[in-house]
Amino acid sequence: PLDSDSSPLPDWRTGSGAGWVGNATRANATFVMLARNTDVNGAVQSIRSIEDRFNREHGYPYVFLNEEEWTDEFKKRISVLSNAPMEFGVIPHDWWFQPDWIDEDRAAAGRKKMEEQGIIYAGSVSYRNMCRFNSGFFFKHEMLMKYKWYWRIEPDVMFHCTLSFDPFKYMEANNKVYAFTIALYEWAATIPTLWDTVKDFMKTYPEYVASDNAMGFMSENGGQDFNMCHFWSNFEIADMDFWRGEVYTKFFEFLDKTGGFYYERWGDAPVHSMAAGLFLPKSKIHFFNEIGYEHPPNQHCPQDDDIWKKGMCSCDQTRTHGELVFLLPLRLDTDHPPFLAFSDYGPYS
Ligand code: GDP
Ligand code: MN
Repeated sequence: PLDSDSSPLPDWRTGSGAGWVGNATRANATFVMLARNTDVNGAVQSIRSIEDRFNREHGYPYVFLNEEEWTDEFKKRISVLSNAPMEFGVIPHDWWFQPDWIDEDRAAAGRKKMEEQGIIYAGSVSYRNMCRFNSGFFFKHEMLMKYKWYWRIEPDVMFHCTLSFDPFKYMEANNKVYAFTIALYEWAATIPTLWDTVKDFMKTYPEYVASDNAMGFMSENGGQDFNMCHFWSNFEIADMDFWRGEVYTKFFEFLDKTGGFYYERWGDAPVHSMAAGLFLPKSKIHFFNEIGYEHPPNQHCPQDDDIWKKGMCSCDQTRTHGELVFLLPLRLDTDHPPFLAFSDYGPYS
C-alpha cells in the first residue's frame, strides 16, 4: 500500500551491496549529517544509535556534509558503522561562507552586542554560516538532489526508542511535508527583526500563505508578534521538494538579502518553522511522538506508557520537556505536550 516515489532508483539503491539490506520498499530518502572532522566521536555515537533503533532494518543511505575536505580518519570511522551507502560531500564555498556583500563592520557590531547579552554562539561567525547553510542550501547539494526525503541527524544525539515503522513511509502515505519531535522557545535576542521580515514577505506574497496554516502555533495575537515557539531543527524529517520549491526559494532569498543571518543570528530552526508554519497547511506538519530523541540538554520521550514500552525506550519519561527554563516548550500548563495539541491551534486570519 505504501507506494514509493516513482523516480528511478540509482543502481546502488536497488539493494545489491554485500550485507546491505536490499529493500525495494524504501522511500526515496536519506539521512543527512552536517559535521566537522573533529565531530567524529559524536557522529559515530549518533549513527550507532539510529542504526540500532531503526536503520539496520531499512538500510537508508547517509550523506555527510562539511565545508572542509573530510579526513580519511572520519570516513574510516563512519563507514564501518553500516552497510548502507554513505557519501561524504564538501559544501560549495559560497553556500557556506559569509557573502562579500555583508557589511562586516555591522556584522561585527551585531556579534559584539549579542555577546554582551550572553547569548550562546553570539560571537561565532561559523555558527551563522551553519544556520544560513541549513536554512537555504543543504537541500541543493548534488549528493542530496537525487532524494526527496531527508532525516537530519547531528553528532551527539540519541534515539531512545526502537521504531516499528518507517517514518519516511509514514510521511509519504499521510501527505506530510515536515516533521519534528521537539518544540522550544527561541532566544529572542537572536532574531530581533526576523518576524517583521517574515510579515513583510507575507504582505508581498499573500498568495503564498496557506489558508489553514499554523499561525496559531507561532503567535498569540493572530500574527502580530512571534511567540518564539519553533520546531527544533536538529531533528527534522522533511520533504526537500518543499525547500526547493518556488515559495521557499523566494522566502529564503527575501530573508537572506536583509543580512539577518549575519547582522543578527537567525537560526535555521525558526526559519524552517516559520516557513512550514505559514506556507503549509498545518495538516502537513507532523509530530513524531514515537521517536524518542535526545539532543542534550533536551529530549522528547514518549509520555504514553504503551508507546514507551513498545519502543523499549531508554529515555526517562519524567524529563521530556528539557531541563533549561529558557528552552521549555510552549504550554506546559496543559497536561499534554504542546505538539500533541498542535492541531488545535487555529489558522491565521
Ligand atoms: P547547536 O545544536 O545549535 O548547539 O549547534 P551544533 O554545534 O550542534 O551545530 C549544528 C550542526 O551543524 C551540527 O550537525 C554540527 O556538527 C554542525 N556544525 C556546526 N558548526 C559547524 C562548522 O563550522 N562546520 C561544519 N562542517 N559543521 C558545523
Ligand atoms: Mn546540535
